[in-house]
Amino acid sequence: MFDEKDLILEAKHVTRRFPASGGRELTACNDVNLKFYRGKTLGLIGESGCGKTTFMRFLVRLDVPTEGEILFKGKDLTKLKGEELRQIRKYIQMVFQDPGGSFNPKMKIRDIICEPLLNFGKIKPSEKDTVARKYLEAVELPADFADRYPHNMSGGQRQRIAIARAIALEPELIVMDEATCALDVSVQKTIIELICKLQKEKNIAIGFIAHDLGLIQSFAHQIAVMYLGNIVEILPGEDVDKARHPYTKTLLDAIFDTKMDFDKKIERIDSEIPSPLDVPVGCPFQTRCDHCMELCRRERPVLKNIGEGHEIACHLF
Ligand code: SF4
Repeated sequence: MFDEKDLILEAKHVTRRFPASGGRELTACNDVNLKFYRGKTLGLIGESGCGKTTFMRFLVRLDVPTEGEILFKGKDLTKLKGEELRQIRKYIQMVFQDPGGSFNPKMKIRDIICEPLLNFGKIKPSEKDTVARKYLEAVELPADFADRYPHNMSGGQRQRIAIARAIALEPELIVMDEATCALDVSVQKTIIELICKLQKEKNIAIGFIAHDLGLIQSFAHQIAVMYLGNIVEILPGEDVDKARHPYTKTLLDAIFDTKMDFDKKIERIDSEIPSPLDVPVGCPFQTRCDHCMELCRRERPVLKNIGEGHEIACHLF
């Protein structure tokens, strides 16, 4: 679906287990294989606690998987240490859900934007003002915001500052963790438009975590659906209405729109998501799936390519 020469990061067989009480183990990510391409957005979607943030944290080396590889520029990120790891951080940046929480409230916007550039010796302290103004303009904020503190700004403006700081090092991949979910809907739209504009200009790969399929389908080139630590479906963003996995279909049916027909029977899941400490043998979705068969209780379905960039892990296919 994408040109393999644009592949910049590949996660292979990534699994993360955490020790839990009573000698048990919690598997937050199970054999995840995903690829990130230059100039494309991969949207990772799923319910809270499904493991999507755990996975994306590996890409910026805030955590390491128990098993698997994350290949970037020919190197396995999971094995890097010291100066080699520090240098790689230039190329992969992260934007968090709550930008306020990732800023030092005592720093002016000028210093927040320029901090990573100074850390990597890319600019001199005397250049801070010019550089901060340049990146403020890039994220469509007035240049005189350089003199402000984060608490003098709205949520949307703070998220633009977080994006300005993320792009300052000219990264090749930006990971965005629910970067718009705390914003008003109208502000969300303007931030998504900004992200798309910057991606086109700079050819950046983006990994965008979300729980809102309606939002992510509007701009992601590829969508990966995660359930209890497993990728259950991967499909082109423009083809999201062709989703076939029973879990993705419930997510699709849950998207609100102004023409919603409340009389129509919608696919929905009434039961609670099982505890990640108690994932059933076989298909992880079996306890909530109307189509569950005997085979589903015995064998875990693996992702199968069903053509045109569409992969699905379900025994129905
Ligand atoms: Fe449902 Fe079986 Fe498909 Fe799992 S494998 S989603 S239980 S039909």
